[in-house]
Amino acid sequence: MTLRLHDARRDELIPFEPIRGEPIGLYVCGVTPYDTGHLGHAFTYVSFDVLHRYLEYLGHDVVYVQNLTDVDDDMLRRAREVGEDYIALGNRYVTTFLTEMAALNWLPPDRYPRATEHIGEMQTLIGSLLDRGHAYVAEGHVYFSIDSDAHYGELSKLPREAMLPIANERGNVPDMAGKRDPLDFVLWQPSAPDEPAWPSPWGPGRPGWHIECSAMSMTYLGERFEIHGGGGDLIFPHHESEIAQSEGATGARPFVSYWMHAGMLRFEGEKMSKSLGNLVLVRDLLASYPGDAIRHYLVSHRYRDEIDYDERDLLASATQVARLRFACRIAEEIEPFAPALADPAQLDPQVATHRDRFLRAMDDDLDTPSALPELHALAAICQATTDRAVLVQAGWLVRELGARVLGFRLAPAPLVAEAPEAIVA
Ligand SMILES: [Zn+2]
Repeated sequence: MTLRLHDARRDELIPFEPIRGEPIGLYVCGVTPYDTGHLGHAFTYVSFDVLHRYLEYLGHDVVYVQNLTDVDDDMLRRAREVGEDYIALGNRYVTTFLTEMAALNWLPPDRYPRATEHIGEMQTLIGSLLDRGHAYVAEGHVYFSIDSDAHYGELSKLPREAMLPIANERGNVPDMAGKRDPLDFVLWQPSAPDEPAWPSPWGPGRPGWHIECSAMSMTYLGERFEIHGGGGDLIFPHHESEIAQSEGATGARPFVSYWMHAGMLRFEGEKMSKSLGNLVLVRDLLASYPGDAIRHYLVSHRYRDEIDYDERDLLASATQVARLRFACRIAEEIEPFAPALADPAQLDPQVATHRDRFLRAMDDDLDTPSALPELHALAAICQATTDRAVLVQAGWLVRELGARVLGFRLAPAPLVAEAPEAIVA
């Protein structure tokens, strides 16, 4: 079995291969910490957490980097609105984000860089882009010239005419001073009087949004690395522009082997967004559901599919995850130490089949909706079998695959009170 991942740039399933051996690099665009996290954010970060866990389960040594966009237009606008220093505002929401993700049993990244601590690296990249003819200085700004990049559009596959409205929706100002093309994007810009400014060869100012991620990813993972992820709304212009800048500055292609994007969350058919007022907040869900139930609900969808949120599915997940926990518990009551599970020849044939199907589904671009029923089948064996050895294998496999790969806590709980029948009733 080989893990195959979908690379958005090639739009194909490709067997996973490290570039230079271990460790492998995984970079995921992090939050802009100016608001409370909603379920869409949780879907993105739980999805990449499952990828992180599965790569480690397969024996890879992963360096996982997730940034914090702690200075950009949105951060500064929000700080101005609420009359708070942007750093203090960011720290407040970062703490909230980390608390919520901890409740969802997220493995923290190895590196958690902040944009404000990498301004020097951003300026070095901008200098290289100017030297290599991919950027120009105009009226205190430095812009990336998209005409200088023959590959611009390869990731999003958008025709030029479709790009501008989307870029404008995501913060592009088409008629900004000195622009040669309305799609040319900001690398460096002068700061407004109430905004932070850093000295630079092009005048005091602040970085553009996209250059932040090029600088932070390459600082920790090198000019080329394996996997770059983020929410699907980042494909254009953010990731498209990140590729253009990174490859333009170094000449090393491809910058990233696998571009992976989490699907968007919808609520009653509409995109979940603050402006529509239909956000489902992680904080609110955690008040009513255990973290494992929310995680179960999220991984019952494939990472790159769209989710149409329905609370009834979350309620069902709470019951289902209790069944998994119960299976672990009864196996541990009989055998407190994990039996050998890695060699299928030593497993009961039925148990081995479900393990094999689970791993095949994971190998198929993290098909968690197909993997999850195999875990439930193991839990069902655990409850139905009269063979204690089979029960122990099945229950311990639920723990191994459920906790190590899908990231459930499956925390020990009182045997009788947590029986699924009690929850169903
Ligand atoms: Zn990013």
